Amino acid sequence: MSSSTDKLAVGQASPEPERPPGAPGSPPLAGERLAELLSAVAEAPDFATAASFLLAQLAEVGGAQRGSLLALDGQRELLVTVATLGFPEGEAPRQRVPIDDHGHPLVLAALSLTPVCGDGRGPTRLGFPFATWIALPLAQPQFRGAPPVLSERRMAELAPTGCEMLMPRDAERRRRVGHAPLGVALLEGLPAGDAAPSLAYAAMLAGPVLSRLWVVDELRQSAQRLDQQRDLLTALLNSLPDPFVITNAANDMVVQNRRAEHLFAFGDADSEGRRRAVEINNLLFTSFLARAVMGGADSGARELNLVDPDEGTDLLFEVLAHPLSEVSRDGSFVSVLRDVTDLRRAAGELERQVQRARLAEIEARRERDRVNLILENVADPILVTDDQSNIILMNDQAEQLFELREPGTRARREMIAVRGNDTKFTTFISDFTLSQETSRREQMRLVHPESETELPIEVVSGKIVNKRGEPLAIVSVLHDLTKQVENERLYEQLKVLNEELELRIRAAIADLEAQNQRLAWQAAELKKVNQLKSDFLASMSHELRTPINALIGYTALMLDRIYGDINDRQEEGLRRIQTAAQHLLALINDILDLAKIEAGKMPLHLEEVDAAEVIGEIAQQIEPLAKKKALDFIVDVPPDAPTMLTDRTKVKQILLNLLSNAVKFTHKGSVTVRVVPQGELVRFDVADTGIGIRESDLEAIWEDFRQVDQSRTREFGGTGLGLSITKKLIAALGGRASVTSTYGEGSTFSVTLPVRTAPRGPDDRPPTGEFPPYPG
Ligand code: ADP
Repeated sequence: MSSSTDKLAVGQASPEPERPPGAPGSPPLAGERLAELLSAVAEAPDFATAASFLLAQLAEVGGAQRGSLLALDGQRELLVTVATLGFPEGEAPRQRVPIDDHGHPLVLAALSLTPVCGDGRGPTRLGFPFATWIALPLAQPQFRGAPPVLSERRMAELAPTGCEMLMPRDAERRRRVGHAPLGVALLEGLPAGDAAPSLAYAAMLAGPVLSRLWVVDELRQSAQRLDQQRDLLTALLNSLPDPFVITNAANDMVVQNRRAEHLFAFGDADSEGRRRAVEINNLLFTSFLARAVMGGADSGARELNLVDPDEGTDLLFEVLAHPLSEVSRDGSFVSVLRDVTDLRRAAGELERQVQRARLAEIEARRERDRVNLILENVADPILVTDDQSNIILMNDQAEQLFELREPGTRARREMIAVRGNDTKFTTFISDFTLSQETSRREQMRLVHPESETELPIEVVSGKIVNKRGEPLAIVSVLHDLTKQVENERLYEQLKVLNEELELRIRAAIADLEAQNQRLAWQAAELKKVNQLKSDFLASMSHELRTPINALIGYTALMLDRIYGDINDRQEEGLRRIQTAAQHLLALINDILDLAKIEAGKMPLHLEEVDAAEVIGEIAQQIEPLAKKKALDFIVDVPPDAPTMLTDRTKVKQILLNLLSNAVKFTHKGSVTVRVVPQGELVRFDVADTGIGIRESDLEAIWEDFRQVDQSRTREFGGTGLGLSITKKLIAALGGRASVTSTYGEGSTFSVTLPVRTAPRGPDDRPPTGEFPPYPG
């Protein structure tokens, strides 16, 4: 028995395969041998080995050369061959029998847990080339979903021809309870003697062991499949471009792919910097997850900033965190991190570009508004046309000339004018568009539609071109030339008038020049004549005065009866001669004085002159004359009357002239002479209560030979030269004279002289003596 134990090692071939079926000497399968068989089956490395071993052992005990072992497949729908014995390689029949085929002897044996024999008397549907055979059922412990075991009654109904069912004994029938079909072992031939029950018994016992092995096998296979699946899944996860992490309830990472490891895990060889970065990432991720968990199970995508542990750069992730609630309820989360750094950067760039575009649009709109504002505020019509010469923009001023407006708002004539304008302008623009020029200036005549007046204008057009130099639009500004044309006309007129005027002025200037020349010649001639006259008078003074003095002298002698007695009539005649001669002498003296002054032959003899003294001397001469006419003669000289540096003779002559005039033209009342010191000046007033002078004559009295009112002055005598000479003397002393008078009441002549007359050079002639009226 010990040797058979050795021989029963699982996986070894049967030690006596050549033994004929049912041959005596084969040890019965019971007791120790059965125990060994079962333990060997249990120790088999897998189900297939165990099945082959069991088949071989059963065949050996049953004396069979060939056999097959079939088992229910996973779905328990088929009986399939799992081991064969005694067939050449590749020739063993591979059976697949549906288990609802209850007429099949193998199905019947397997489902009824009852051995079935084929004794070769009838045909069977066995599917094996066996003349006789025995099918030994294999059982397994009862479990949920196991195929039901056929009842004995049902077995009897189904029992196929040529088969015999080895109905179990009571003890075996009881053992069947609590078992389910597993399969069937088919052996060729019929076992000898009572081997069949022991074989069936052994098969029944080996079934559960075999079934366990099958389960183990299945488990192993499924573990292998799981391993493969896990490897596949890991490869899949690692091939994901995004970090993938599964965390447990404590937020510890239990699964992470390679991308996630890059961010969240470090090894011993890693640098300190990398470790720090990884730690920070873990902190950030944990806190993110904690927030996500609090935010609710179905937290959506959220953003997470991490650090690239190698580069140190900022990374932005979009995290899709989902609870693993469907698979487990332990608070695990699966998180997928999508790197959106570039995406965000691109989005930022896009946003910036959109912003830029928006700003550009605002700027463009502002620019357009500005252009519109300019267009509307420019006084000149402005038009913008496209490359087809269509007007695309114009201001109000241009609209007045070119716009057709609503039908009915313009009169027919206006419409005609507008069309005419449009035709002219379009012709110009089309021509310009086709030309190579970039700007053009041209004058044209339009018609103002409302006033129907002709409108001379100048069009200045410029092209707006694209980068390729093709014209996009043309901007035209129209200048109203009406004023300019009018101005040009006026300018032409003015030019003609100017020329005429110039001619006239030139003629007038020529005339004046001729006159001037004539006048200059006349003045020169006059001067010459004057000089001749003065020279003549000066030289003739002796010749004139000598005979007159003789005349006066002899007349006086005759009147004094030196040449004998004379009668009254003779005396009368002589007196007339004397008066006439004296008048003539006075006249000649005056004329000679004047001539002397004009000839410059009356030089100044400056000396210290006491004003009071001079007045005293003059008073002595005048007083007798006044007395003769019964006039009061008043001398008013203040004690502070100055001592002057002046020409004594000339001062006396001036005052004598004025005083003798005063006495001469006064019949009653008084004659007054007054000295009024005035600082640097001294004024002499000669006042009378005489006949007075008309206002109109006040200027004329100073002229040569001027006697106002001839009829009256004839009564007083005189030459009409006194004031003229007086005025020239005053001027020679650097003074001025004036007169105030009331006609019929009296006159006051005033002479203002400098206290100290400035000496003059020898050639210095006296001034001509033009005096303005004395103020006040
Ligand atoms: P005549 O030698 O005639 O006095 P004057 O030159 O001295 O010439 O005076 C000119 C004229 O001025 C006088 O003829 C006189 O009409 C007028 N006239 C001058 N002095 C007086 C005066 N004191 N009162 C009125 N008339 C005067």
